[in-house]
Amino acid sequence: MENMEQINNLTEENISQYQLESLQHVLNRAYKRVNFYKNVMDKKGIMPEQIEKTSDLSLLPFTTRDDLALNYPYNFFAVPLRDIVRLHTLKMPFGNPVIIGYTKSDIETRRLLFAQFFKSCAIGQEDIIQIYLEKGMAVWGSELKEGAEYLGALTIPPDPLNLQSLLMVMRDFKTTALITTPTAMQNILHEIQKNEIPVAGLSLKKILFIGEYLDKNTRNQLKDRLSVDCYSFYGLIELGGPCAFECEAQNGLHIAMEHFIPEIIDPLTGENLPAGSEGELVLTTLRSKANPLIRFRTGDITSIILQRCDCGRHEWRIAPVSKTSDKRVNIRGIKINLFQIKDFLRNYNMHQTRYLFVARDFTYKKEPELWLVMDNKNFSGSLPQLHKLLLTMETDFEDIFGLYCSIKPVELSALEQYKIGDRLFLEIKEDIK
Ligand SMILES: [Zn+2]
Repeated sequence: MENMEQINNLTEENISQYQLESLQHVLNRAYKRVNFYKNVMDKKGIMPEQIEKTSDLSLLPFTTRDDLALNYPYNFFAVPLRDIVRLHTLKMPFGNPVIIGYTKSDIETRRLLFAQFFKSCAIGQEDIIQIYLEKGMAVWGSELKEGAEYLGALTIPPDPLNLQSLLMVMRDFKTTALITTPTAMQNILHEIQKNEIPVAGLSLKKILFIGEYLDKNTRNQLKDRLSVDCYSFYGLIELGGPCAFECEAQNGLHIAMEHFIPEIIDPLTGENLPAGSEGELVLTTLRSKANPLIRFRTGDITSIILQRCDCGRHEWRIAPVSKTSDKRVNIRGIKINLFQIKDFLRNYNMHQTRYLFVARDFTYKKEPELWLVMDNKNFSGSLPQLHKLLLTMETDFEDIFGLYCSIKPVELSALEQYKIGDRLFLEIKEDIK
């Protein structure tokens, strides 16, 4: 914990100097060791030493998710493979996955960041932390478990428990902090009410939310019904995990400024926007050894809050992320890019059809559906063969995205006549070309 204390003791005055020195170090390393960055900097005609202040970052090109996938397997590593002790694989539908490597020191940094997150929510080693996440969020589950164990708290990692068992464990082991998504929490709350479970029998004091936007209504509802404090968290696996945390003031998320330099850009032009403007969040890593990322486009829309927070911490904050600038949709904390759905369908030789990706709120569980116009161009087999194909596609979808999706053949007229209903959560209607 000593390192964490040192990092947290950086004052408002010396954080800027620390960021600049770290940035120059990162740029030099990236230029010398990461082929991708050497190529893009040479192409732009800019050398690391020309970056003399953090605002000069805007001279450098961005890094995107596509860059990470296209440079599979090794082109983003700044260390030899023998120094990497863990690889996280982010599945893409077909084609290269995104690979994020961790050195021993990167793993230590992640643990510290998680510990910082827990500390900002006043969670300590005396707490009992239970994690409840979708299987599509397994990477987060394992990272959070490590962070909580590092803190010294009794940790209950995600298990394929049904909700009744989960609540029984929560009651009998006196869980004090739950980590989950807002949608999963709605489901838990529904179960508590349906079974008339006495809230007084639970020891829950805090709920830490990841993966999805936590709206004010849900926060107030949970506070009223369960007497809990809610905290949200922002992170991306591409950036090694945690990036920003909510504090007790609950008015924006503090960026881990010792680890990241944030920028806000116009998602269409790529121009930097003035402080306070809403735009796409871009983050540069300062401490990642294996995979330093410069100006990574998160695709998430937010704004930076520069004013000092009521909690007294000096780090900048970001407003909670509730939308994206790219074609990613968030279903129960699992982010799916709609281009990936097109790629998914192309893999079954469906090159010329129309589809509708729809997710409605069914009893707090948003089960997506994929409606496909099936005609002779796409499929000419028998009915049993069609049934078999759809089952295969559903299995593949769940395997790729970590989420069950019902795949339904429909007539073109049904798709064209479909109207957005009151309970519709998401609708994307497109042609595959
Ligand atoms: Zn604060």
